[in-house]
Amino acid sequence: MAAIPFDQRDGKIYLDGDMVDWKDAKIHVLTHALHYASCVFEGERAYNGVIFKSLEHSERLHKSAAIMGMKLPLSPDELTALKDKVLKANNIQDGYVRAFAWRGSEQMGVSAQLTQTHIAIAAWDWGSYFSAEKREQGINLCMAQYRRPAPDMAPTQAKAAGLYMICTISKHNAEAQGYDDALMLDYRGYVAEATGANLFLIKDEKIHTPTPDCFLNGITRQTVIKLAKDKGYELIERHIKPEELGDFEECFLTGSAAEVTAVGSIADHKYTVGPIVRDLRDAYESLVRQL
Ligand code: PMP
Repeated sequence: MAAIPFDQRDGKIYLDGDMVDWKDAKIHVLTHALHYASCVFEGERAYNGVIFKSLEHSERLHKSAAIMGMKLPLSPDELTALKDKVLKANNIQDGYVRAFAWRGSEQMGVSAQLTQTHIAIAAWDWGSYFSAEKREQGINLCMAQYRRPAPDMAPTQAKAAGLYMICTISKHNAEAQGYDDALMLDYRGYVAEATGANLFLIKDEKIHTPTPDCFLNGITRQTVIKLAKDKGYELIERHIKPEELGDFEECFLTGSAAEVTAVGSIADHKYTVGPIVRDLRDAYESLVRQL
């Protein structure tokens, strides 16, 4: 059965100062963000009614907006309080929270100096990003045809809508070939990340992860690095070449949506859903649920 489309659900959405009925949270077709990708957003999860790292996500939304030259009318603290309000208004315990800001309709051209910045927050019940079976076996990645751009080619530290067009194309291509996701290299040809999650690789009980110098240093990535270090694992952040992918034993992705997801293969390279992935997945699960 197809899921209910996102514009036809019930509930409340915060939009520019009001809690509006879900179906009434609309924008005009001539909105700058729709044509020129002037939109920044966050993806967060709530566990047992509490948003994990909510303030960090609010602060990142501010940072993304600042990079794009957009001024948000709400402080990180105000955003954080509103996200809780949206969660409660929709009676969500375990779900996903999407806070976003975009440029409006006052101008329709590359220049957007006169546009107003709008903010909305929506939340919905949501389970795993990947199915339970996939999570057990590990997901399969192919190589993406697009690379992460250099920091002087795009605002790579912003979580901005425009950066996702290469992710959606790459993900569609992966799915068309029977894969779950795609691994993107960066502009230099180093291993970067998946289309919506950061990457970790393990060999000889050491955890390697690419240096986030041209892609998001994910909040989940930072959380898992701390968990791994606290558990005594050696964590090596470095540039990783695609030729090295065959050397590793275990592999996983991290993201607010993906959480800790084991990877079973990247192209022809196979990985086991082994003890370190399981250990960190359990540790993350306990942390987010405050067990
Ligand atoms: N990279 C990309 C491209 C993403 O979309 C995400 C998800 N926001 C991440 C990495 C992971 O970020 P986080 O852990 O903060 O969700």
